[in-house]
Amino acid sequence: MNYFFEVIASKIGFSRIGRIILSKQRKLYIKTPNIIIPVKSSLMKQFNFVQEFENHDLFTISKEFFLKVAFIREKFRNNGFIFTYPGNIQKFEEILIKNRNLLSKDNIISLIPFNIPTTSINKEFALNEIKNYLFKAQKILDEYPDLNFGISIRLFDYLELLELYLPIVREFENIKILNLSGFFDNFSNYRNILKGIVKIKTELDNNLIIMASGRIIPKCYPLLVYLGIDLIDSSYLLFLSAENFYDTIEYLLPIYKLKYLPCSCLACKANLTEILENKYSTEKIDLLSLHNLITANNHMNKIKQYLKFEDFRTFVEKSSFDDTNLISMLKVLDKEYFDIIKYETPIKQKSKIIRCLGPSSYYRPDFQQFREKVVNNFEPEPWTRLIILLPCSAKKPYSESKSHKRFYSIIRKFPEFPTFQEIILTSPLGCIPRQLENIYPVNSYDISVTGEWDSEEIKIASEMLVKIIKKYEPNIPIICHLKNEYYEIIKKATLKIPHKFIFTDIYDKVTSTKSLQSLQELISEYQHKYEPKESRLKFENYSKSWTRKFIKILDYQFGPRAGMKIISNGLKSIRNRSAEEIGLKDLKTQEKLGVFNYLTGQIKLTTQGLERLVYSYDQMKANYIVFDGDQIQGNTLFRTGISDYSLDLIPSNQVVILDKNKRKIIGCGELIVGSNFLKNSKSGRIVKIYE
Ligand SMILES: [Zn+2]
Repeated sequence: MNYFFEVIASKIGFSRIGRIILSKQRKLYIKTPNIIIPVKSSLMKQFNFVQEFENHDLFTISKEFFLKVAFIREKFRNNGFIFTYPGNIQKFEEILIKNRNLLSKDNIISLIPFNIPTTSINKEFALNEIKNYLFKAQKILDEYPDLNFGISIRLFDYLELLELYLPIVREFENIKILNLSGFFDNFSNYRNILKGIVKIKTELDNNLIIMASGRIIPKCYPLLVYLGIDLIDSSYLLFLSAENFYDTIEYLLPIYKLKYLPCSCLACKANLTEILENKYSTEKIDLLSLHNLITANNHMNKIKQYLKFEDFRTFVEKSSFDDTNLISMLKVLDKEYFDIIKYETPIKQKSKIIRCLGPSSYYRPDFQQFREKVVNNFEPEPWTRLIILLPCSAKKPYSESKSHKRFYSIIRKFPEFPTFQEIILTSPLGCIPRQLENIYPVNSYDISVTGEWDSEEIKIASEMLVKIIKKYEPNIPIICHLKNEYYEIIKKATLKIPHKFIFTDIYDKVTSTKSLQSLQELISEYQHKYEPKESRLKFENYSKSWTRKFIKILDYQFGPRAGMKIISNGLKSIRNRSAEEIGLKDLKTQEKLGVFNYLTGQIKLTTQGLERLVYSYDQMKANYIVFDGDQIQGNTLFRTGISDYSLDLIPSNQVVILDKNKRKIIGCGELIVGSNFLKNSKSGRIVKIYE
C-alpha cells in the first residue's frame, strides 16, 4: 500500500487539509488535521467515553490487548488506529510477528517505538540512543516492506540530531508518519522548533503525515496546525487529568480552583461538580479525562471549521496572543521564513473577512506577498499626469464607500480623470493603486481605525509608497488629500524621493464640502503641469475604469506588462447575470479572454488569454508546469505526470500546463500546492484543471 496520504488543499502558513486513505475499497478516509484520542481500558469502561467517541476518526492504542480482530476490525471497523507501543523495540518486534496479519490490514498503522525512561540526557548519549533506534527501525522497515509504519523523531533538545533521521526517512517508502515526539514540549525553544519544521517541510517528502506527540495542550493546536502538523496526539491530557487539571483552552486550571464549570459536556453535566471536593477519587480522574478530551476534540473541530470556512490566520493569532512563546514563534515565522512560507500560502480567499488584530497581523504571509507583488508588478500607466493620494475607508471596495464616492464626485468632474493615478494609503496593507482595490486582501480586510498609526504601520506604508512613487518621473505632481494622521507617512517618504507632495486644505473631515473644494482647486491647478510622454488619446481603448483595473490585475497576477499583452486590442466587458463575474472579451476579435470574479478578486484566463501571454514571452520562466504526456485526463493533474515546473508556484495561483516539448499550452488550472511540494514529492495532487 503505497498510496496513503494526500494533500487536498494548502492553507495559510504551512497548514493544509489532507486525507489519510485507510481503505480505498471501503472508501475509508480520515481527514486531517485531526486529533488522536487515546483508547485505554479505564476509558473504555466508561459508557460516556464510548458514547462520545465511538465515531471519532482516529485513536491510539498502546496495549497489545487491543490488537484483536474483534476490536479493530469489527467493533471499530470504521475508525483508524495508531499502535503506539510503550515498551522497547525488541518486544515490539515480537508483537509484529504475532500480529502481522492484523497489522497488514486496513485500519491500523504502528509507530516504531522510541522509548527511553528519561527525557533529559547529554548529547553524546542522545546521539547513541538515536543511532541505536534507527539501526533497529531500519531492520524492521526492511523486514516488513508490505507494512506501513510511523517513525518517532526524538531530538532530546538537540536540533542538529534531526539530520540523523533524514536518510532513513528518504530511503524507506513504508514510512508514512513522522511522529515528532517531544518536539513541542518546550515552546521557549521556538526558534529551534521552527528550524526543525522548516527542515522537514523543505527537505522531506511533503506526503509524509506529520504527527505531534508529547506534552501538548489544546491551546497550541491552532499554531501546530499552522506549522503543518496533520495529527495531534492528545494522550498528554490523560496525564494532566490524573494531576487534577481541568482544561478551559485558555487555561489549565487545578481542579481545586474551579468554582464555575464553563462547560456542559457529559462529564461536567454528570457529577464532576459533586466530586470536585473529593481529592483522590478515580471516578473524578475518569470524568476529568473525559472532559479534557472532549474539550480538545471540540477545539480541533473549530480548527477544521475555520481552516475551511473562515480566515484561519486570525484564529491562530487570537489563540496565541496570551502566550509569549506562541506569539513570538508566529512573529519569527512571519519575518524570518517568509521566503519559504510564501510558496506554501495562497494569496486568495473567497468571501471571507480578514480581520487584522494589530501588530501580529502586519506581516501575515499573504499580506507580505501582496505588498511584494504590488511593488514588483505594478507599473505606471504611461499617460499619467497627476497622482492623488487618498485615505482608506472601512467599506470595501473603497470606491463603494461614502467617502470615496464623494472624492469621485470631484475627481470625475475632470475629463482628464483617466490620466490621474489614485493611490489609497491604508494599514496594514500599505498603499494601494486604485486599480487594485478589488483584489484579495484589499477587498476583504478589516482593521480598527482610531486615527492613530503606530510606528510599524507608518514604516510599512511609507516604504511601499516610496517604492511605488519611485516608478514615476520626479516632476509629476502628487496631491495629498489626507488628514494629519497620514502626514507622518508622507514625511518619511519625502526623505527618500525627490517628488513634490502638495497638500489639500482639510476642514474638519476629508469629505467636508470645503475640503473637497480644496481638492478640486488643486486638481485644476496641477492637472496640466506635467506632460506625460504618451498621450491618452493613443490609449483611448484603455481609459475606462474597469479596463484600467483589469490591466493592472493581470499585471499583478501574471507579471509586469501581462495586462497589455492580453488586452492588446482593448476590451469589451460582459456582466454576468449573477453579478459575481465579469467576462473579458477582446474588443476587436471578440475572443473570450477570461473571467473576473468579485468574490476572489482574480481573473481566470482562458487558454486564448494565456496563449497571448506565453507567445509574447521568449521563454516561459514563471507559472508553468510541463506535463509528461499528450493529453490530460480528468480534472486533476498528479505529481507523477509532471516532468518540469517553474520555481515560483504558489498554491491557488493559476498555472499554465505545457506539453512535454514546451511548444504548446495543453491546459490551465489552479495550483493545489506550491513549488516546494513539487520539489520534494513523488506523488500527490498538484493542479485542479479548469480549462
Ligand atoms: Zn466539560
